[in-house]
Amino acid sequence: MPAAPSPDSWVRPCPPEQGGGLWVEPGGFHVDPTRAVARAVITHGHSDHARPGHAHVLATAPTLDIMRARLGESAGGNPQPLPYHQPLRINDVTVTLVPAGHVLGSAQVVLEYQGSRVVVSGDYKRRHDPTCAPFEPVTCDAFITEATFGLPVFRHPPASVEIARLLHVGQVFPERSLVVGCYALGKCQRLIAHLREAGYDKPLYLHGAHLPLCELYQRHGVDLGDLRPATVTAKEEMRGAIVLAPPSALMDKWARRLPDPLIAYASGWMRVRARARQHGVEMPLVISDHADWDELCQTLQDVAAPEVWVTHGAEEALVHWANLNGFRARPLHLVGFGDEET
Ligand SMILES: [Zn+2]
Ligand SMILES: [Zn+2]
Repeated sequence: MPAAPSPDSWVRPCPPEQGGGLWVEPGGFHVDPTRAVARAVITHGHSDHARPGHAHVLATAPTLDIMRARLGESAGGNPQPLPYHQPLRINDVTVTLVPAGHVLGSAQVVLEYQGSRVVVSGDYKRRHDPTCAPFEPVTCDAFITEATFGLPVFRHPPASVEIARLLHVGQVFPERSLVVGCYALGKCQRLIAHLREAGYDKPLYLHGAHLPLCELYQRHGVDLGDLRPATVTAKEEMRGAIVLAPPSALMDKWARRLPDPLIAYASGWMRVRARARQHGVEMPLVISDHADWDELCQTLQDVAAPEVWVTHGAEEALVHWANLNGFRARPLHLVGFGDEET
């Protein structure tokens, strides 16, 4: 039996002018391309991964739904849903989608070619999240990891602790409305689900921008309880209410029409005080859908890949840690991936 090909001989970062993302040569497809391509495999619905205009899109059914909800007509042609754990041959490569624990439908893309296995993790976390299937480590020859919070200062507290703080503040200030800034895909629904887990069963109020994806989650069987649009509710009724809104709405007059709003913001970046101040946040909540430093290091150990390729975020520290701990690690320098949604 001939030796398996080295991972970097068949999976490569792709220059933006040729589609960007990763190019899987023997499969003839891109993973998370940043420009419109012929054939795309998409890890999840966040806008830096799920771009418009591909001629053929393969993803989990929820991810395809999310793309349709957000991109409409330009969600791409020939959508092909692939359930988790079901191998699919594309040319010479076998593709399997495995839960990434990041948002509803998020998948790691497991690629196999002539005995070589590469896992593209997309974005992921290891924490409990009632709104999506948990991350599953898959051993492989090369693991491509994000490093959004790839510095040892980033250690997220348990979400339950942050949720308890929020509910406590609500009890201390029953006259105020609590406005929680959060991104529309993933964070919003996770906050709602954690509030429900903590026993909060009152109606939750949503900015109009957050309603469609909450309804989509509910259609996919995620129970979010009683949700109401914030804008049609009488002002007095909003005293003591919890309102979820996009971060962009926190500082503008949308939030000011609520009774004495107390501004909170849920993000892994709330660890950084300057970021909280910049958004006028009284109550930073450190809740993230990305792995923190400990989760990143733990995951590298769990997947036991001799090769680690690190992308979007603080690559250097994780590359350094991995090289010290017996991995061959390097930064991947993919262009176009950011922290739009963290
Ligand atoms: Zn993401
Ligand atoms: Zn990302």
